[in-house]
Amino acid sequence: MTLTLNSPLDMHLHLRDDDMLQNVAPLSAQSFAGAIIMPNLVPPITTKEALLSYKDRITKAINSNSSQKTTPFSPYMTLFFKPNYTKEFLQDIRDDLTAIKLYPAGITTNSEGGVSGFDIDELSPTLSAMSELEIPLCIHGETNGFVMDREAEFVPIYEKLASAFPDLKIIMEHITTKESLKALDRFDNLYATITLHHLYITLDDVVGGMLKPHLFCKPIAKRPKDRAVLLDAALNAHPKVMFGSDSAPHPRHSKEAPGCAAGVFTAPVILPALAQLFDKYNRLDNLQAFVSDNACNIYNITPPSKKIILEKKQFKVPQEYNGVVPMFAGESLGWSIS
Ligand SMILES: [Zn+2]
Repeated sequence: MTLTLNSPLDMHLHLRDDDMLQNVAPLSAQSFAGAIIMPNLVPPITTKEALLSYKDRITKAINSNSSQKTTPFSPYMTLFFKPNYTKEFLQDIRDDLTAIKLYPAGITTNSEGGVSGFDIDELSPTLSAMSELEIPLCIHGETNGFVMDREAEFVPIYEKLASAFPDLKIIMEHITTKESLKALDRFDNLYATITLHHLYITLDDVVGGMLKPHLFCKPIAKRPKDRAVLLDAALNAHPKVMFGSDSAPHPRHSKEAPGCAAGVFTAPVILPALAQLFDKYNRLDNLQAFVSDNACNIYNITPPSKKIILEKKQFKVPQEYNGVVPMFAGESLGWSIS
């Protein structure tokens, strides 16, 4: 049994830089035709020069194995949100930019320079220009509250922004709760991404038995009932929901440490694991929409043409990829990329 996917897209991806970029970028390019590249480097991507130079490093990393022919893969670039980008600046960078990513200050890896307080007037210069230029806004929506409640507490902020800027497309990144999913129905201009790991795990898998540092991420995995509504949206290919892995590689020593870095590395296992899940629930027909078509419609993009053939055949997941431990390390998945 096989399944062919046309131009799969990962609408939330961390590729890092330097050696890590060289290590992980080819793994995403093997499975996907394109990805939204997150800008939280040190320092974050806030200028045209930094954005173009990062895009160039990504393209080089993907094609570094010169024995292979060039892989079609579009890095869809993003800027790190700042409240005072001018319209002129954004206009000048528009053709090279797919979205802008907003982080609340200090909420996740390298987000120290993010937004604190969500005063509409303060954010307005950038958000108005984005709205006019039709640049989508991606948000990591968590407050600084109690860890299990951070996302639900952020929903009113999503709603405030969605009402204040009705023409701005706002993407609620890596949603994990029923509260976020419900907000999609209340506002035309709200959309969402869902990760692979939040479709598979709950908090029990992270801390319910022995601590599993490689499943520790932000937002933290939630309750079974939250996972159930996420699964329902993904399996039914909710038209306002896209796949975005939030694959976030850290070296093993940063994960297996007293202060464990947040992030699950899923890039090499995504498509087999999604096929396994959609197959289990008899929804393989909807995988194309979840992993590509919805994103093309929402972002209005046409990715390079790329066919990925998945086969219902065992895939033994490696223990690590050059020192980075993937989700399902050492386990077997029921589907593989052929
Ligand atoms: Zn992320």
